[in-house]
Amino acid sequence: MSDSRFTVLNRSDIIAGCVDKEFDLIIIGGGVTGCGIALDAASRGLKALLIEKTDFSAGTSSKSTKLIHGGLRYLKQLEIGLVRETGTERAIVHKIAPHLVHPERMLLPIVHGGTFNKWTASLAITVYDWLAGVAPEDRKETLNYQQTIEKEPLLDPSLIKSGIVYAEYRTDDSRLTIELAKKAAQLGCVVINHCEVTRFEYNDVSICGVRCHDHIVDCDVSFYGKVVVSAAGPWVDKLRAKDNLSEEKSLRLTKGVHIVVSRDRFALKQAVYFDAFDGRMIFAIPRGKATYIGTSDTDYTGNLDEVLCTTEDVDYLIAATNRIFPKVALDGKKDVISSWAGLRPLVFKRGKPSEISRRDEIFTSPSGLISIAGGKLTGYRKMAQRVVYQVYKKLGTKSRACVTKKLSLTDNPFVDYSEVKTQILALEPSLGVELAWYLTTTYGKKAIDIVAKSKSTKSIDIVEQEVIYTIEHEAAANPIDFLTRRTGRTYFDITDAEAIIEKVMDIFGQYMSWSIETRTLWRSKIDTELKQARIH
Ligand code: FAD
Repeated sequence: MSDSRFTVLNRSDIIAGCVDKEFDLIIIGGGVTGCGIALDAASRGLKALLIEKTDFSAGTSSKSTKLIHGGLRYLKQLEIGLVRETGTERAIVHKIAPHLVHPERMLLPIVHGGTFNKWTASLAITVYDWLAGVAPEDRKETLNYQQTIEKEPLLDPSLIKSGIVYAEYRTDDSRLTIELAKKAAQLGCVVINHCEVTRFEYNDVSICGVRCHDHIVDCDVSFYGKVVVSAAGPWVDKLRAKDNLSEEKSLRLTKGVHIVVSRDRFALKQAVYFDAFDGRMIFAIPRGKATYIGTSDTDYTGNLDEVLCTTEDVDYLIAATNRIFPKVALDGKKDVISSWAGLRPLVFKRGKPSEISRRDEIFTSPSGLISIAGGKLTGYRKMAQRVVYQVYKKLGTKSRACVTKKLSLTDNPFVDYSEVKTQILALEPSLGVELAWYLTTTYGKKAIDIVAKSKSTKSIDIVEQEVIYTIEHEAAANPIDFLTRRTGRTYFDITDAEAIIEKVMDIFGQYMSWSIETRTLWRSKIDTELKQARIH
């Protein structure tokens, strides 16, 4: 089945009633959890529909630290099961999406007065490596004072005692989510973005479907399903309120912010996991032209659809970074070029606020709505398995085995991505290594098609071909989908994003036959998006 099904089914066919509106399963929410469930269900032959109100990954799934990790901090909280599960999942996700999940050796400096001392850190990471089944050659490496400073010369030598380097993986959360949605669509799941569930449909007292508003066509439409699952992340309680909110458990939302500085300004040699001054731990991670730093963790009760990084958030991260990297002496106002803020939907029991877990939890309402919240990007596959198990129980049919462990999210599981980069450069040497790296790690093997297409148009306009590819194969519907979620430019290359806005607007305008009003609206929305990311 071709990728184009992904886009074609998204709108006119469904709305016009050309597509059957009855499903085994309806999934609300196109974050990593919803897209993971959609893929698991479709790969077992269930007839599934995925509905996303904004864009795939627009919620928390494009706002994470972008690590596929076991969460060393959860070991501190003795969440052994969570560490083991996410630890073993890392290797699986790396295998099925090699262009998106890259090994990243992390340096944990042991500092005077820090969270870990040499022995506790060494013990914790040995357990971490063991729980995650890390291969002997990738296991932790302990460093003395001198080796730690050499590993990362920007660290403050007066704070350092020693260090440990251990195995982590870096990813692109948003692209991972989009690849899951694409694969689910290839396997027959109907996936639709920019379509919002506004209420539930009931058969007597049981949920039997959803009423939606399509934001692109501007119309309402109902879909019916034997089972309805809400994977709406921070919005789970809002949807449960439309149904029958359980009094027992609820979400507590905390905000986590990341800031981005230019790599020239903060030329980290390698990723570092360091102590803030308040007992929290923070990551500083190099990626392409940028280094990003995060995260904060503060309670949040504001607007779920506009979660912003504030100057207080910036000050906190800058102060923590400057403490351990004093030579860099970042200036929040001058040096922060972009940012993002996301919400952790943590599940807690009423009356016991301290009992907050990072684990995922599944709750079923009296009407039959299954909701899932919490958990981690890294554990999406296992979360999907648990939900689909509940779905089969409700359907009352025998479950087919889960196959997602072996389902490649790329065209060829054995493709070597340095080979793709070489092929791209051979095709068009003028691209340069940096652009070839970006294209490869963004689109995987499809990058070759994008470069080949741009060559055939004579102008060698990569951006144009990227926009067209994401419209035709990845359901990008507007410049924000493209600049923020399909390509990550808003966060990691905001100067380029600003430079190409007009061109991107023109291509969307032409492709989507926008009226002048629609174009003006999107211009204002993308300007706001970039302004909010820039903060100052
Ligand atoms: P979301 O991504 O929020 O998806 C929910 C979706 O539902 C949204 O897209 C929303 O638009 C949609 N929706 C809501 N209401 C409706 C409606 N009415 N109709 C249709 N759609 C609707 N995990 C890791 O493994 N590694 C990390 O490094 C990491 N870092 C993190 C850092 C931060 C700051 C935060 C906040 C989280 C981090 N996590 C990390 C956790 C991880 O990001 C989340 O667990 C995961 O992204 C949650 O995905 P989700 O699909 O459940 O929620």
